[in-house]
Amino acid sequence: MVTYLDVASTTKPKQEVVDAIVPYLTEQWYNPSSLYSAGTKVKKDIDGARKIVADLINADSDEIFFTSGACEANSWVIRGFDDVVHCDKDRLIKMPEARSAIITTPIEHKSMIEAVSNPMLYSDVYFCNVDHNGIVDMNSLEGYLKQCENDTVLVSVIAANNETGIIQPLKEIADLVHKYDGIFHTDATQLLAHVPVNVNDIGIDLMSASAQKFGGIKGCGFLYKKKDIDLMPLIYGSQEGNQRGGTENVIGIIALGEAVKHIDYKSQARLSLIRDYFIEGLISIGCRLNGSKSNRLPNNINIMLPSGVSGESMLYMMDMSNVLLSTGSACNSHSVTPSYVLKSMGLSDEEAMRSIRITFSSDITKEEIDNVVNEMRKYIKLLRS
Ligand code: PMP
Repeated sequence: MVTYLDVASTTKPKQEVVDAIVPYLTEQWYNPSSLYSAGTKVKKDIDGARKIVADLINADSDEIFFTSGACEANSWVIRGFDDVVHCDKDRLIKMPEARSAIITTPIEHKSMIEAVSNPMLYSDVYFCNVDHNGIVDMNSLEGYLKQCENDTVLVSVIAANNETGIIQPLKEIADLVHKYDGIFHTDATQLLAHVPVNVNDIGIDLMSASAQKFGGIKGCGFLYKKKDIDLMPLIYGSQEGNQRGGTENVIGIIALGEAVKHIDYKSQARLSLIRDYFIEGLISIGCRLNGSKSNRLPNNINIMLPSGVSGESMLYMMDMSNVLLSTGSACNSHSVTPSYVLKSMGLSDEEAMRSIRITFSSDITKEEIDNVVNEMRKYIKLLRS
């Protein structure tokens, strides 16, 4: 039997999700933009999924834009913001001299780090500090907001980190950003499966998410864009209200809507008890928890293995015992460079290389956890000898 401890990378779609998409492959495979009734029926079902997503986060349906996932949503936010500030749409001219800034953190998902590092951007980019627990330093954020007071400012902070599961104080950040008239974007890809998000109560202007992290299928996600926020499209075309071109990923969108129905926020308290039991076991074999214990996703354990044991060797050893885990985010898992997220929290290269990420679903059993800890104990001994 396989023990899957890589839920932050992707989740298994529920049977209900699989059942929901089959008719769109066998009978209702029409193009949702077609004007005959078979097409408009598919369009109606897509809009049904849109309403389900909107209700989940207390938004309006016309504020939800389906994308190919959170990488696209993140890229759209950065590129779309930069373009909209530096382009006069009426006169169709570029205005590189317009003053704009993007403030973000060094612990964002790779898609955000790379989007803001794009040399084609006109906006200035600043990275605020995070503390050793992986929480954004509010003084550092405020310092940059003051520095950019005369600019149009976008602040992007990941809601819960994909490697450490550390959750940011979103409301506090949103309030601070709005005090300085900035726009607040958050990448809630990892958070949404575990913590209810009310975009209006928190004060979120833009939010990215990916369906595969909460039981949907890969290649589909959405951007929440508050009505009064303007972004230039990243992909041109007439779909999604002319904001995101491309024939809709009907299967992905229907799966996303169905998956939302099965998000279970009530089981999260139980999940954190399981996590804490798991952490205790791992500490008993010489591991150390990376980041805050309290502000973390209920299913995430990022730990540093004892000295002399690399995360990568442990991953391969555990694979032989049918336990699947990760050394960091999936997007980085083919590179052997130490995690930039852990390094931003003060870990050395060597400590970061000794770290692994364990993320699990609510159906994990106590027997599985005990078995994982025992197998790790065995491999630690072997790798250190
Ligand atoms: N942001 C975060 C925080 C993520 O964890 C991921 C998935 N690794 C993404 C963005 C990208 O999601 P997708 O690959 O579905 O576009």
